[in-house]
Amino acid sequence: MSFDLIVKGGTLPDGTVADIGIKGDKIAAIEARIEAAAKSVVDASGNLVSQPFVDPHFHMDATLSYGLPRINASGTLLEGISLWGELKPLLTHEAVKERALAYCDWAVSMGLLAIRTHVDTCDDRLLAVEALLEVKKEIAPYIDLQLVAFPQDGLYRSPNARENTIRALDMGVDIVGGIPHFERTMADGTRSMTELCEIAAERGLMVDLHCDETDDPLSRHIEQLAYETQRLGLQGRVAGSHLTSMHSMDNYYVSKLLPLIAEAGVSAIPNPLINIMLQGRHDTYPKRRGMTRVPEMLKAGIRVGWGQDCVLDPWYSLGTADMLDVAFMGLHVAQMSSPADMRRCFDMVTKVNAEIMGLDHLGLAVGKVASLVVLDAGNPIEAVRLRAERLCVVARGKVVAERPKRDTALSIKGRPASINRRHVVPPQVN
Ligand SMILES: [Zn+2]
Repeated sequence: MSFDLIVKGGTLPDGTVADIGIKGDKIAAIEARIEAAAKSVVDASGNLVSQPFVDPHFHMDATLSYGLPRINASGTLLEGISLWGELKPLLTHEAVKERALAYCDWAVSMGLLAIRTHVDTCDDRLLAVEALLEVKKEIAPYIDLQLVAFPQDGLYRSPNARENTIRALDMGVDIVGGIPHFERTMADGTRSMTELCEIAAERGLMVDLHCDETDDPLSRHIEQLAYETQRLGLQGRVAGSHLTSMHSMDNYYVSKLLPLIAEAGVSAIPNPLINIMLQGRHDTYPKRRGMTRVPEMLKAGIRVGWGQDCVLDPWYSLGTADMLDVAFMGLHVAQMSSPADMRRCFDMVTKVNAEIMGLDHLGLAVGKVASLVVLDAGNPIEAVRLRAERLCVVARGKVVAERPKRDTALSIKGRPASINRRHVVPPQVN
């Protein structure tokens, strides 16, 4: 057998050293040594080879708009939403598309090859929906893009949002979104969630709601989301994004809530960069972290991924499309410091996020789509520690980004020193 591409000698996340043979857009062989010929070869010896990074929560219609028309002075979610409201009427189809495509180039350079983006459906023109549907088609050869119809200003609170959200789904948007905690009342939030889940059930779609993104311990829409998922038979197709109120909830209530979420098969998508930045802004001290209870959810058997949410937009003034930054922040805020937990944080931004998005074709196995990333790290924990450089990115069998290995020798105050952060060998831990 001959191959189009062989990725040679890389270390897989489980520690196996293997060659990966690619034919067309599929992985055709994973073996200790492949001797067969190939049109091209990527030398990955000494490097970690992983399935690509996946971001299950993003806002591509707002990305790279930082400073337009002004910056978020209070740093709160609510000012971000009103700032986005000022920017929306100024948006053009071309500008949204241009910024989205620029972001997708960043994503590819970071080995981020699947993204779920929410797209605001409150603008009657649905211009961002049209623009991102075009982007989705254009980037399909290298990025899997899922779109969520997202009534940012509230399904009932914003005029026409309900009709526009349905129109967006008719236009081909993949997933039903919502924001129950931003409706006028708790009761409206609950009602919006029921209706959105019913729409998803009727159309056979997935659901991903911005859910309880607040510090209010009484914001309990996640309970209703678990209930509707169960009632409508949507198990495995529903995600609750953020869930930050859980941080502040009564402990007894949470002990009842977590099994309900697990039983309904609802996935959780916390967004550590943005949650640590936006939440707790009304607190003095002690100041709440405002991220949901990740280790506790994992222990209860709930599927949890890490999302990025924002890069350079009304809500977040930093960001680089690097899911290792997301995992790094998540690991710290959730205090997931054991070797198993650190390792899990890497899995969350690769494998688990792909599962949440239903992307069965991704993975390092024969027959899967040949999308992978070669990292300048020896193992997943090191990749998180270093936010390791991406040396080569392969999308659907083609090399789409490459970077030469860096010479790490440098001189300190005239004294030559070899600084290679990878050569810190940690003690053996189980
Ligand atoms: Zn969001």
